[in-house]
Amino acid sequence: MLEKQLSAYGDVEVNESLANHTTFRVGGNCAYFIYPKNELCLMRILDILKNEQLPYKIFGKGSNLLCSDDEYHGAILCLDRYMSEYYFEEDGTLVAQAGCSIILLAHEAMKRSFHGLEFASGIPGTLGGALFMNAGAYKSDMSGIVKSVFVLKDGICTWIDVSALDYSYRHSRFQKESDWIILGARCKLESGNQKEIRDLMDSRRIRRMQSQPLNKPSAGSMFRNPQGAQAWELIEKIGYRGKRIGGAMVSEKHANFIINEDHACANDIAALVEEIQKKIKETFDIDLRTEVERFNWKI
Ligand SMILES: Cc1cc2nc3c(=O)[nH]c(=O)nc-3n(C[C@H](O)[C@H](O)[C@H](O)COP(=O)(O)OP(=O)(O)OC[C@H]3O[C@@H](n4cnc5c(N)ncnc54)[C@H](O)[C@@H]3O)c2cc1C
Repeated sequence: MLEKQLSAYGDVEVNESLANHTTFRVGGNCAYFIYPKNELCLMRILDILKNEQLPYKIFGKGSNLLCSDDEYHGAILCLDRYMSEYYFEEDGTLVAQAGCSIILLAHEAMKRSFHGLEFASGIPGTLGGALFMNAGAYKSDMSGIVKSVFVLKDGICTWIDVSALDYSYRHSRFQKESDWIILGARCKLESGNQKEIRDLMDSRRIRRMQSQPLNKPSAGSMFRNPQGAQAWELIEKIGYRGKRIGGAMVSEKHANFIINEDHACANDIAALVEEIQKKIKETFDIDLRTEVERFNWKI
C-alpha cells in the first residue's frame, strides 16, 4: 500500500482537502498530503512518487496559492512541520531550513538585536515560499538579505549563490525551475538596536491591522503592482471595492485583497480575478498580473 510505504518517511494524510492548508480556505482534495521528516526522507518520497508516476507540489503555508476546486491526483509535500530548524551566527548570519515561519525568524532576529528581517514580520509564509516569491514589503524583499540558497535539484543538494537566482520584484529563478526544491538558505542580517527593531515591527503590525482585512481568509495582495501604478488604486478606480461574486469579495478595507467572505469556492475567486483583469484592461489598457499563484487549474 502506497500510504504505508510513504508513512515511513513522513506524516501522511490521504484524500485531504487543500482548503485545510491554504490561507484562502479553498481547494479540492489531494490524493496525499505529506509532511516529510527531513531531507533524506523527502528524497526517498520523491523516488517513490516517481516510481508511481504521481505528480507532486511543494507547499509552505499555502499563503500565496489559489488551488482549484478540483481533485489533485498527486501528492503535496509540505515542509512546515519538520523542516524548520534554524540558527544564528554571531556576525548576523542566519541559516534556516525552508519550512521555518518567516514571521518567527523575524522575531527571533529581533530578540538577538539583528535587523534586516523586520519587513517580513507580517508575511504569513515559510522561508521557502518567501524565497520562491521574493516576498517583500515596505520597499524591502528577500533578495536584499539572502546570500545563498540550499537547493535539491536533479537529485543533488547544492548551495546556489544569490547572483544566480535572477531576483527581481516578486520574481525568482525558482518560478521557472519547477522541479527545484528549496531546502534552506543563508541570509545576512546586521547588528542593530533591539528597541528600534521592535518598535518598527510593532508599528508595521499596527499599520497592517489597520489597512488589511486580516480577519478574513485571503492570500494577501491578489495582483502585482504594474509599472508606475498601484493595483489597489486601479481596482478602486473601476469601482470594484466591495464587489462580490458568490462568496468571494474585493475587500472594503484594501482593494488589492480578495477575501473569502462567505464559503467561497475557488471558482468564485477566479471569476472575480478575471473580471477585474478584463475591466482594467478595457479601462486603462493595463494587463494586471496576479501575485497569487493558481494551482491545479486545467486552463
Ligand atoms: C494576510 C497575508 C498577507 C501577506 N502579505 C504579504 C506581503 O506583505 N508581502 C508578500 O510578498 N507576500 C505577502 N503575502 C503572500 C505570502 O504570504 C507570501 O508570498 C509567502 O512568501 C508565501 O509563502 P508560503 O510558505 O505560504 O508559500 P506557498 O503559498 O505554500 O507556496 C507558494 C509557492 O512557493 C513554492 N514553494 C514553497 N516552498 C517551497 C520550497 N521549499 N521549494 C520550492 N518551492 C516552494 C510553492 O510550490 C508555490 O509555488 C501575504 C499573504 C497573506 C495571507
